[in-house]
Amino acid sequence: MKTLLWLQGLTCNGNTQSLLNAENPYIYEIFSKINLLYHPSLSIKNNLNEIVNKILDDEIRLDFLIVEGAITKNKNFCKIGNYSIADVVNKLKNKAEYIIAVGNCAVHGNLPAIYKENKDICGLQFKFEEKKGLLPSDFKTKSGYPVINITGCPIHPAWFTQVLMALYFDRNIPLDKFNRPKEIFMYLPHDGCTRNEYFEWKTEAEEFGHKEGCLFYNLGCRGPMTHAPCNKILWNRISSKTRAGMPCIGCTEFNFPVRENFFNTKKIWEYLKIFP
Ligand code: SF4
Repeated sequence: MKTLLWLQGLTCNGNTQSLLNAENPYIYEIFSKINLLYHPSLSIKNNLNEIVNKILDDEIRLDFLIVEGAITKNKNFCKIGNYSIADVVNKLKNKAEYIIAVGNCAVHGNLPAIYKENKDICGLQFKFEEKKGLLPSDFKTKSGYPVINITGCPIHPAWFTQVLMALYFDRNIPLDKFNRPKEIFMYLPHDGCTRNEYFEWKTEAEEFGHKEGCLFYNLGCRGPMTHAPCNKILWNRISSKTRAGMPCIGCTEFNFPVRENFFNTKKIWEYLKIFP
């Protein structure tokens, strides 16, 4: 039976919450096919150290190493037994067939990495746009893949389960320049948005939550420049931010949440300061 180990760094647990909401397959279906070695929120036994040691001694094979949350080398800040999250990832990196980073913190560092004083906080292979994460830029796991990145704050459960199942059945997964599966991240929230007609006619919604109008021209929607299939793979199978009248905030991109103006579309004259 293939095995999966889930680690958490600096995280709000949002991607675990997403995992719990997985459907088709449900979480219990996944873990009837894959042996869940340990998950910080789901495991009953607190035996991570023992499992890590058994993996290092080749008593247990490790197929999927899943990392949620940003990485820090600080042992006081995010401690796993006597180690930091960075120590544990470094120990296991050559043992795992696949490493999957789930969520923007594990991929890009995201919120925990935003402050200059948090110099040692990063993603697994990236820090924001640059390949300056914990693992070397040319790092590959035993399977030949780099860290497979599933961005989002949080990720949609189906993005994770689709990738996991594809790898489980030894399917090839083409990746984009941020090592995200192309099959998922080639789409934009703008593709399939129910407000496209309003976008074409430049008719803007008057406020959040309104059914009529696009959210791009004044309200800051990032749907046309964000890579995520939020209007193709719907949330809870029924909705998305833009369907509910909330602009896309670009949470799958490296510059989330560094960007300013989440709910405001800056106009050219504001940049050029032409008008007072
Ligand atoms: S609301 Fe956003 S995603 Fe929808 S049509 Fe307008 S710009 Fe595109």
